[in-house]
Amino acid sequence: MLQLVYVSSATTPFSNAELLELLTKSRIKNSKLGITGMLLYKDGNFMQLLEGEDNTVRQLFETISHDPRHHNSIVLIDEPAETAYFGDWSMGFRDLSDKSLETLPGFSQILNRPKAAEFQKFDGNDCWELLKMFKDNC
Ligand code: FAD
Repeated sequence: MLQLVYVSSATTPFSNAELLELLTKSRIKNSKLGITGMLLYKDGNFMQLLEGEDNTVRQLFETISHDPRHHNSIVLIDEPAETAYFGDWSMGFRDLSDKSLETLPGFSQILNRPKAAEFQKFDGNDCWELLKMFKDNC
């Protein structure tokens, strides 16, 4: 299977209702496709892990990357994996702007770093650190 992580910027910031609609539709389609993962959103920036069968992930990312609701997609991780990291989640989601998340262990360490304000400045290790924090605490 393949794990692919990209970051992107919303063309215009998403409202809660728009995020909810995106998630609801994505979860239905991901379940049908056998895709799991995690979507993080903060101040107009997305980070998403897609995992599943290689071609399925690549085709879905192709569709997502052409979605006019966001742009400037940058792939940070594209690697084979033995098992899905978020195997139970058709698409986990966190809006990192939510202040209540700051109580999570490890949250402030990552997001207090200067570069953490923009996912675009993340590297693969930063991505995994953030994704692991949510897997361990949510
Ligand atoms: P259609 O509904 O026929 O889509 C046709 C076109 O319309 C596509 O280009 C689509 O991008 C665009 N579109 C759809 N809804 C809107 C809208 N409300 N406003 C403007 N344009 C729209 N989809 C998943 O299935 N799984 C995911 O994990 C996933 N993650 C996403 C993450 C982000 C950050 C974004 C922005 C989108 C994500 N999507 C995801 C949505 C994805 O881009 C497609 O819209 C969706 O897969 C349906 O595409 P379709 O071609 O099958 O269907």
